[in-house]
Amino acid sequence: MESCVRKIHFCYGHRVMNHESKCATLHGHNGIIWVHATPVKNLDNLGRVIDFSVLKEKVGGWVDQYWDHTMILFKDDQKTIELVDQAPAFKKTFVLPTNPTAENLSAYLLWEVCPKVLKNSGVIVHKITFFETENCYTEEIADPSDPKLRKLYGL
Ligand SMILES: [Zn+2]
Repeated sequence: MESCVRKIHFCYGHRVMNHESKCATLHGHNGIIWVHATPVKNLDNLGRVIDFSVLKEKVGGWVDQYWDHTMILFKDDQKTIELVDQAPAFKKTFVLPTNPTAENLSAYLLWEVCPKVLKNSGVIVHKITFFETENCYTEEIADPSDPKLRKLYGL
């Protein structure tokens, strides 16, 4: 199986609600996302999975718009959302349905964002590697033949 991988950098703030120690405090990261895509059928007629620039434009564009230089907070963390929303800001807080751990951010990218922005592009994103720091990363991996994933891409 061929895959094509694009790296995306962004900066974000978050806190992990109910965390046992320091991650319960608002803080920030320079996150790095590795987007792994595989063709729905075959390589294109030039021999590519997809042009690298398309992954940058589509997935990177979404990340720039919604996550870069924002606070990413859990929907149940109402007190923090209200507090952060009182501060002057250029961008709105991004409210996630789950606690904003690296695992949940990876899953959100794989199951929500990528199918939306890459529908009809000829690829499926089957893996997200998410570096929260230089030393710590998580992976969300799916089987590209999984009917549940393919359905999200309209296949
Ligand atoms: Zn953190």
